Amino acid sequence: MQWFGKGSGNIEDRRGMSGGAIGGGIGIIVVILGLFFGQDLTGLVSQLPIGETTQGTPKTGDPTDREGKFVDGVLASTNQVWEQQFQEMGKVYEQPKLVLFTNNVQSACGSASAAVGPFYCPGDHKVYIDLSFYQELQNRFGAGGDFAQAYVIAHEVGHHVQNLLGISERVQRARATLSEKEYNRLSVKLELQADFFAGLWANHAQNLKDFKLEEGDLEEAITAANAIGDDKLQKQAQGEVVPDAFTHGTSAQRMYWFKKGFDTGDFRQGDTFNSTPL
Ligand SMILES: [Zn+2]
Repeated sequence: MQWFGKGSGNIEDRRGMSGGAIGGGIGIIVVILGLFFGQDLTGLVSQLPIGETTQGTPKTGDPTDREGKFVDGVLASTNQVWEQQFQEMGKVYEQPKLVLFTNNVQSACGSASAAVGPFYCPGDHKVYIDLSFYQELQNRFGAGGDFAQAYVIAHEVGHHVQNLLGISERVQRARATLSEKEYNRLSVKLELQADFFAGLWANHAQNLKDFKLEEGDLEEAITAANAIGDDKLQKQAQGEVVPDAFTHGTSAQRMYWFKKGFDTGDFRQGDTFNSTPL
């Protein structure tokens, strides 16, 4: 992937700061939505003692390091694509912020450790990522490369789009009336749609002249989608596959929807909720 993009101006660089406590210290753990993985968050998202505050101040201005700049550029490009898409729907796109952090971070959804992977918090409209995740993606899942990294950002931005359009709220509201099994099924649809949106972004971003796809780029994203399907992750973690516990979809599903977004670039094709079997 060749990169010519500008920055988004929407990066909050909290790397090197110690983050932790939930502001105000109210004793409720808020569920973090929009994780990249379907892992159980128990024990990962935790509250720190009340009174602990974030140490240090975020760096201002655009990141200057290579990785930070790249993420910033991908974010800028998602802004352009989604602004256009929203305009076509007669809506106005509100740009998300992206927080770079190390080890742990405080969000409107609670405190999170880097172990949860990248996530989106609907409460503050921010995407959170510890860039060491990219090392993990490469080392643990064999899914390296810049386009795979871009896919991760585009997936999280996909959750932001769902939030703006009220899709995630509908799913959350339904949660109260559903069994865990039924809710998981709905959660899979939400995740697959975020994958579709990531593919849609890649399709349109090509026309923006801020990056050029190269041979093997699409495969990088497909490899990543394949590596992080719930079935593969579960098998790695517990040696067996329990479909009812899936919250993100199988490898085949994730690849299918990313590719469908990429091939069609058509927002209307992304209704994962009313589509079977994938
Ligand atoms: Zn997700």
